[in-house]
Amino acid sequence: MANTLTTAHIQGAYRIASQVMDHGLSLKQGVAQLVTEGVGATYAQDLINVYRSMRLGRCYHRTINVEATDYFLRQLFEDGGAAYLSPAINATHQHIDYYEKHQKLTLHRKRKVVADLEHLLGGSVMSHLAAFEELVQAALVDSSDARKARLAARAHLKPERVVLTSTMFVRNPDVVAEALHRAAGVCEVCVQPAPFTRKSNGTPYLEVHHKIRLADGGLDTLENAVALCPNCHRASHYG
Ligand SMILES: [Zn+2]
Ligand SMILES: [Zn+2]
Repeated sequence: MANTLTTAHIQGAYRIASQVMDHGLSLKQGVAQLVTEGVGATYAQDLINVYRSMRLGRCYHRTINVEATDYFLRQLFEDGGAAYLSPAINATHQHIDYYEKHQKLTLHRKRKVVADLEHLLGGSVMSHLAAFEELVQAALVDSSDARKARLAARAHLKPERVVLTSTMFVRNPDVVAEALHRAAGVCEVCVQPAPFTRKSNGTPYLEVHHKIRLADGGLDTLENAVALCPNCHRASHYG
């Protein structure tokens, strides 16, 4: 049964399920409409109910196939971003746990679909940037020809969006202002004048950096702050 679902069926099911959820179509009408599109009545009902459970973040017991799961999750992200995808992933996790427990098997492909989509929910900005940096390093190891061949395939021209969470320290503006005042437009490491002035107010452009990172327990004090030109700032992080 599951194998007879075509892509058009899945797309139709998603469209109709969202009408049932948001636009006053009854479940019965939705099922009838999907049946006319060639989906079996029971499966039609399951698809619509699974959509609803995904939106509500509730465990669902009836199963839909891997392709439909993948399409639903992607489309939910498309339609409502993290606010839709997050409960849907939650619901699917619960479904997988439920199903595996009862059937005593592992839904490898479905787990992979969920794992692939979870990255759209990001995690932290820092872990995302670190993962990207690793991909760049891996790409650098390849030959230029291999990279050019991938580029010629012109995949990923429109980059996916990711919703990330970020934790920041609330810095004391007086520390920044006083460090800038102390530096008086000259980088405190290379002792060169700031490379340019800010367009907004004509002041020299320097960046205030913490010698011991706040993340490493450094204090947000003038003693731990240094006003740097962008080059020295980058060097202090990556050099
Ligand atoms: Zn400098
Ligand atoms: Zn810094």
